[in-house]
Amino acid sequence: MSSNRTPRRIGIFDTTLRDGEQAPGNAMSAADKLELALRLEAVNVDVIEAGFPASSPSDFEATRMVSDALTRAQVSTLARARRDDVETAVQAAGSRRHVLQILGTGSDVHLRHKLGITRQQAIDDAVDAAKFATSLGVETVSVGIEDATRGDVDYLRQLTERVAEAGARYIPVADTSGCATPEEFGELIAKIRTWAPAPVRIGLHCHNDFGLATANAIAGLQAGADDVQVTVGGIGERAGNTALEEICALLAYKSDQLGLFTDVDVTAIFAVYNRLREIIRLEEPRNKAIFGKYAFGTAAGIHQAGMLRNPATYEYVEPARFGRERTLLISRHSGRAVLRHLLAELGLPVDTDTVDEIYRVYIAERVESDCEDLSVLRRRLEADLISH
Ligand code: MN
Repeated sequence: MSSNRTPRRIGIFDTTLRDGEQAPGNAMSAADKLELALRLEAVNVDVIEAGFPASSPSDFEATRMVSDALTRAQVSTLARARRDDVETAVQAAGSRRHVLQILGTGSDVHLRHKLGITRQQAIDDAVDAAKFATSLGVETVSVGIEDATRGDVDYLRQLTERVAEAGARYIPVADTSGCATPEEFGELIAKIRTWAPAPVRIGLHCHNDFGLATANAIAGLQAGADDVQVTVGGIGERAGNTALEEICALLAYKSDQLGLFTDVDVTAIFAVYNRLREIIRLEEPRNKAIFGKYAFGTAAGIHQAGMLRNPATYEYVEPARFGRERTLLISRHSGRAVLRHLLAELGLPVDTDTVDEIYRVYIAERVESDCEDLSVLRRRLEADLISH
């Protein structure tokens, strides 16, 4: 199902260094943030959120270093809807190529239980902060709507229209608690799109509490959003944010169908992820989409028999597009096809009796509980069968 529309370019806003970094275990030094920001700029993300300058001297310093070093990407900061936070953010990141995100409040739960203010006060604070940021010459004044997915529609409309009038040119809509379904989120974004037409850009900020962060982001993009906030490896508060690699993979394969594309260099982001894992000492997950250790590995016999004839049998997403390699692994679940393949490679006779015997010894009666790379079995077969 493809359309004749010209695909629309989607902005990629990376919040690995802010939402990603603030989650437990992910602390980064200013030097770490600088290194990652340069790597993110090199793979072509559009905006890099460096931190929340008013929150700590270390966030201030990291933001200043990142802002000074970037040459193409915009730098983004977070600020509460207060003039002093806005001023601090401008001191850290300047005004040029700066996306200053003022934290607007979308739900009564947050108004009552977090801030203790009324809807009117929240609108007034966001409007005042947006006007103040505009007066400081900030290139892109933004008001984000936190917890928008639990907000009252009439209030969200008033907040959106008022901050757009006050100068906000980028409005990220957050599913802060990760409560939305794609259908709900798409409907909300379609409404906000009509309340804040171009040139205001609508952004998406999704959390993965139901495992829907990528699905919700895609629904929001299809409903007319311009930009998606992501993190490398999907790190972030609680279950994390929309993963950069998942959005890029989807758009790499479904650009025509979705009518969307990005300029991110998808083959280069795995290297950024590996560096991020080193920096925050993130364990390697086995089954994560695109970046999991075995995302492109198989051990089961039926799968391997197919893969050896044609990888397309079980592989729609192709490893090479993402800087990965296909791996065949040996486990108790492997079959004879992979053995015949190995024996042929080693130039050994492959009659049925030989294969059956080798299968019994090396696969069926395996004592190792983990799987191992094909090359390990190959070396064992070589040593056991050829040297005798
Ligand atoms: Mn968040």
